[in-house]
Amino acid sequence: MPSGKESVIALDDVTVRYGEFEALRAVSVSVAAGEIVAVLGPNGAGKSTLLRAMAGALQPSSGRISLFGELPFGSEREPVRRRTAQRVAFVTQATDVAFGFTVRDVVMMGRAPHQGAWMTARPEDELAVDEALERCELRALAARRVDALSGGEQKRVAIARALAQSPKLLLLDEPGAFLDVRHQLALYDLLVDLAAAGDVSVVLTMHDINAAAQYASRVALLKEGALVAIGSVEEVLTYRRLRETFDADLYCGVNDVTGARFFLPMRQTRTATKAPD
Ligand code: ADP
Repeated sequence: MPSGKESVIALDDVTVRYGEFEALRAVSVSVAAGEIVAVLGPNGAGKSTLLRAMAGALQPSSGRISLFGELPFGSEREPVRRRTAQRVAFVTQATDVAFGFTVRDVVMMGRAPHQGAWMTARPEDELAVDEALERCELRALAARRVDALSGGEQKRVAIARALAQSPKLLLLDEPGAFLDVRHQLALYDLLVDLAAAGDVSVVLTMHDINAAAQYASRVALLKEGALVAIGSVEEVLTYRRLRETFDADLYCGVNDVTGARFFLPMRQTRTATKAPD
């Protein structure tokens, strides 16, 4: 984490097991306000598990997770659980479709942690929903039933619901999946806008290394449950590290004007370049 900033979420030596299997191994990560951290790694590396642990949906078998300096997860204390629900939004990969509900109804569900027991929508709830619909380009679909939408549209509804929650920490598991190119770019731009305002932090898993390089403040590489590296694009997304992590050849290019990095997956050949020791 960049020094001088308070951490929004901090994992300290966190190990997560499914039965005997260690899906995350001694991971320490800390995220500052206004950061976008992209988590990359091969299938099965533990990316979703990391997000589930950050969301409090999985308990670490060892280590500690603190949110805004508190230890909220697993807390029996209602005010702590409520504060967590108000501040952390999690968009999973497989979004359950709420049958029979309209897009607007589903986005309004994001307001639940802020509403009283009767869940009556107040003007500020309507406003948050309007804003989330607008940001996710869903205004025209607001009255449609979610179960009648395409996969990509449903994904945008799930993201709008998370935005309506007005979270301080937004966790997104492969949000770009199912989205067409334009909506992918619009989503990443939206995340940058939210983070630039300074009070939303984003942690997202993704497979698109080029998008991670363009949009993330920091990138983390995970392999077999362990953190291989975390840091700036220049530090972390090197040919050697990517090869170690993905077991694939990705050529790393640099735009000589802007200095921006880009990555080109190469066909596997028997003479694939061996990373120098
Ligand atoms: P990724 O998101 O990087 O593809 P996951 O976090 O989904 O990886 O999974 C990490 C490892 O944990 C994988 O080997 C996966 O098979 C295993 N795993 C994930 N979820 C479960 C579960 N509910 N029960 C048992 N094993 C699981």
